[in-house]
Amino acid sequence: MPPAFDWLIVGAGFAGSVLAERLAAERGDSVLLIDRRPHVGGNAYDRLDAAGVLIHQYGPHIFHTNSEQIFDYLSRFTRWRPYEHRVLAKVDGMLVPIPINLDTVNKLYGLNLTSEQLEGWLAARAEPVDEIRTSEDVVVSKVGRELYEKFFCGYTRKQWGVDPSQLDKSVTARVPTRTNQDDRYFGDAFQAMPAEGFTRMFERMLDHPNITKRLGVDYADLKDEGLARRIIFTGLVDEYFGYRFGKLPYRSLRFDHRTLDQEQFQPVAVVNYPMSEDYTRITEYKHLTGQKHPKTSITYEYPQAEGDPYYPVPRPENAELYKRYEALAMSTPDVWFVGRLATYRYYNMDQVVGQALATFRRIEQAVPRTGAGE
Ligand code: FAD
Ligand code: UDP
Repeated sequence: MPPAFDWLIVGAGFAGSVLAERLAAERGDSVLLIDRRPHVGGNAYDRLDAAGVLIHQYGPHIFHTNSEQIFDYLSRFTRWRPYEHRVLAKVDGMLVPIPINLDTVNKLYGLNLTSEQLEGWLAARAEPVDEIRTSEDVVVSKVGRELYEKFFCGYTRKQWGVDPSQLDKSVTARVPTRTNQDDRYFGDAFQAMPAEGFTRMFERMLDHPNITKRLGVDYADLKDEGLARRIIFTGLVDEYFGYRFGKLPYRSLRFDHRTLDQEQFQPVAVVNYPMSEDYTRITEYKHLTGQKHPKTSITYEYPQAEGDPYYPVPRPENAELYKRYEALAMSTPDVWFVGRLATYRYYNMDQVVGQALATFRRIEQAVPRTGAGE
């Protein structure tokens, strides 16, 4: 008997869902989409909590991209709520803007510098670094050791369980330094939240007669059933290959979700705690969603070593180990590896969508359409 489906897609996050949609809607292929979790959306999943407040089950997800193509693609499945993300950091007992900007320094040090003066102020503190390699180098070479200690050192140790000097520069380089008063967390051209939430957007994306969903099902439980001709795998690449070269390290989080009997808890959606507390940040969702509700829901994030794999850990030895799995993946016929876990990359949502759309273009080149001579 021929397989029942053209494709088995493992994982219903951005990587798996975008590919399910493309393969079904654009090529007319039949898709079986599975996820071991009981819901679609992967880590971007949001839901109403017991009080009816829309929360993000796996921590705050804010959409931002510079790619008009990616924004337009997702716009087929959602309307958007304009939202520019702003974050404050609790430092020296004060709430100040992060990324570090003109107001951060003026408030923290009781100064009244202009942008130009701040450039000189930072240059006088910056430590020269010959070759910027690590997450420590990136920051001390720009703002000096004191601001590094206040904003980055403690937060990064908490978040990753290692010193910033042990992490690739790309980690702290995600957060810029500004000498103007721009206090937005992201500088991207498109910044918005799906008007009815991420889960609703995924449901629309996957609402197609050629897509069959089976949730709460692990790939391990049906991989020998021969259900599909080809596979798209968006889970852990090392798990797929039975950890044969050893485990790729991941950082996990524990989310402490709470609902409070008050309308608002903090002035912005996210407050970071780089110098104190065991958690890294507190998120209050109503700022992101615009929801009106007499109560409010917040989440504390506690980083931990064990648990669901949320963050690939960018350091040279891990990149080396991943390369060995990547070589295996490349030589495995009829399986495409896509997404943050399967390609071991610290990708944002838009980057995963871009990677999935690029994979679809490669599939179009490599795999004749059903009924086209196969
Ligand atoms: P996932 O969303 O992880 O989806 C993979 C799915 O595969 C999961 O649902 C998993 O259950 C399933 N799966 C794995 N293995 C199996 C198996 N063997 N069988 C069945 N199912 C399996 N990005 C942004 O752009 N902005 C943000 O503000 C942002 N904030 C973030 C905050 C946190 C705390 C985290 C952890 C990430 C954040 N991200 C953010 C990144 C974003 O979550 C990812 O880029 C995106 O969700 C990755 O999509 P994915 O499909 O690759 O993976
Ligand atoms: N970071 C920090 N202090 C902050 C914010 C970020 O040290 O106040 C560092 C930390 O190492 C973090 C990285 O910069 O993991 C990237 O931050 P981002 O907010 O992009 O992390 P994410 O939202 O992906 O968890």
